[in-house]
Amino acid sequence: MIERRGILDAMDCLFCKIVAGKIPSKKLYEDELTYAFPDINPQAPTHVLIVPKKHIASLVKTDAGDKDLLGHLLDVAREQAKEQKLGNGYRVVINTGANGGQTVDHLHLHLLGGRAMHWPPG
Ligand code: AMP
Ligand code: ZN
Repeated sequence: MIERRGILDAMDCLFCKIVAGKIPSKKLYEDELTYAFPDINPQAPTHVLIVPKKHIASLVKTDAGDKDLLGHLLDVAREQAKEQKLGNGYRVVINTGANGGQTVDHLHLHLLGGRAMHWPPG
């Protein structure tokens, strides 16, 4: 039942559809585990989303068994930052849950750059 629920969630998931090519996106990077594409509503001159190809609803749904994947997502963020020439710095964000401002229930990293970021983020 839990398995089945996961499959149903994935079928209805925006980022799963993007990974599968059912919803168009501009591919910035892809490997066997991850996919990166521009955010449709950019919050900075550079705003890239990096997602695992497998459906994981949020950071809450990961555990120690996902540490290779989580580390890999950060590797991809760092390399994308180089690719996007963000040598002056950048921010990597994982909005998590309602209070974290998460609106798409598929784990994703935001890579933001091209301007100075504010703190606190609000
Ligand atoms: P979050 O609010 O952290 O869950 O981030 C979800 C992000 O997905 C938002 O920044 C949206 O602008 C972005 N987004 C929603 N639909 C699309 C889409 N079709 N292509 C690219 N980015 C999208
Ligand atoms: Zn998904």
